[in-house]
Amino acid sequence: MRKKSRLGIMGGTFDPIHFGHLVTAEEALVQFNLDKVLFMPTGQPARKTNRSVAPSEHRYLMTVVATASNPDFEVSRMEIDRPGLTYTIDTMRELRDQFGPRTDLYFITGADAVWEIVSWKDAQDFQGLCKFIAATRPGYDLHEPLAVEQIESKGLHVDYIEVPALAISSTGIRQRVLGRRPVRYLLPESVAAYIEKYGLYRGEGS
Ligand code: ATP
Ligand code: MG
Repeated sequence: MRKKSRLGIMGGTFDPIHFGHLVTAEEALVQFNLDKVLFMPTGQPARKTNRSVAPSEHRYLMTVVATASNPDFEVSRMEIDRPGLTYTIDTMRELRDQFGPRTDLYFITGADAVWEIVSWKDAQDFQGLCKFIAATRPGYDLHEPLAVEQIESKGLHVDYIEVPALAISSTGIRQRVLGRRPVRYLLPESVAAYIEKYGLYRGEGS
């Protein structure tokens, strides 16, 4: 009988995608023996309604450009094509229907995002749909007891991995572009070129 396949899902706003995301996905792929990692740019993030996010098509294309050379990485349009606010639980349900019971789903997040899981819409419903892989992220304590307790009380399965520490964030990159400071070595050159080409993150109206 064929063994179960293992699919990683790396969700994010990817505004823009950077080496922190890519290293995390690669590390999860190897440490959890995943068959592939599906990058899932959010449509309208339900938790980021307080700031304007670059148009989803740009975020999607930057993610495609950044992952193009890795045969184990793919990018999904599922969330950006779904109307309304994006809820990860809807995505997991859809992926579960699409891939069926022979595929285990692993949702990959940074340590900061894992604390938010418990506050997500229908958090307890993730139980049985997918497992979580939480990666260390500089500045975030991985084993905050309260968060772990809360996550477990909802019956969610979380594994923790260490990734080579990268203090890179999309927020920091956007601020650098705005301040005309260098972003080289923080994200793939192809993504930096894309940002330059379309004049993203340069302030009002970009
Ligand atoms: P922003 O600053 O706009 O919030 P971000 O850098 O946090 O952007 P997101 O798109 O919000 O990027 O993150 C997607 C996922 O990647 C989240 O689970 C987040 O925790 C994780 N992540 C982001 N940056 C890193 C990093 N440097 N190391 C490990 N994980 C990261
Ligand atoms: Mg973030």
